[in-house]
Amino acid sequence: MEDCIFCKIINQEIPSYKIYEDEKVYAFLDISQTTKGHTLVVPKKHVTDIFEYDEALAADVFTRIPKIARALEKAFPEMNGLNILNNNKELAYQSVFHSHVHLVPRYSKKDDFS
Ligand code: ADP
Repeated sequence: MEDCIFCKIINQEIPSYKIYEDEKVYAFLDISQTTKGHTLVVPKKHVTDIFEYDEALAADVFTRIPKIARALEKAFPEMNGLNILNNNKELAYQSVFHSHVHLVPRYSKKDDFS
C-alpha cells in the first residue's frame, strides 16, 4: 500500500534490521527498542488491524510467532521472558496502521516499562 511505512520496509524501500522473513510474514527490529531485541512481526499483506484478518491470515502470522520467539531467544540468550503485544486502533495505542505484533524480550526486573 502506498504511503505505508511497513509496506515500504517489507518492499526494502526503507531499511530495517530483518529478524525473519518468508512468503507471508516479515519480522524486524522495532526502531524504539523498548528492550533489546524488540521485534515487530507483520503480515506482508497490508491489513490495518486484527479486525481485517481472516483465519488464513491469522494462521500465517500467529503460527510463526513461536519460531520467531525461539530465534530471538537464540540471538539474545540472556533473555528471560517475552511480552507479546498487539495494539488495534488509535484508542488502543496503535500508531502505525499496518497490523503488527510486538515481541518484547525481558531480561530482568530492571527493564520494566509502563
Ligand atoms: P505504539 O507506537 O504505541 O507502540 P504501535 O503498536 O502501532 O504503536 O507500534 C508501532 C511501532 O512501530 C512503534 O513501536 C515504533 O517504534 C515502530 N516503528 C515506527 N517506525 C518504524 C521503523 N521505520 N522501523 C522500525 N520500527 C518502527
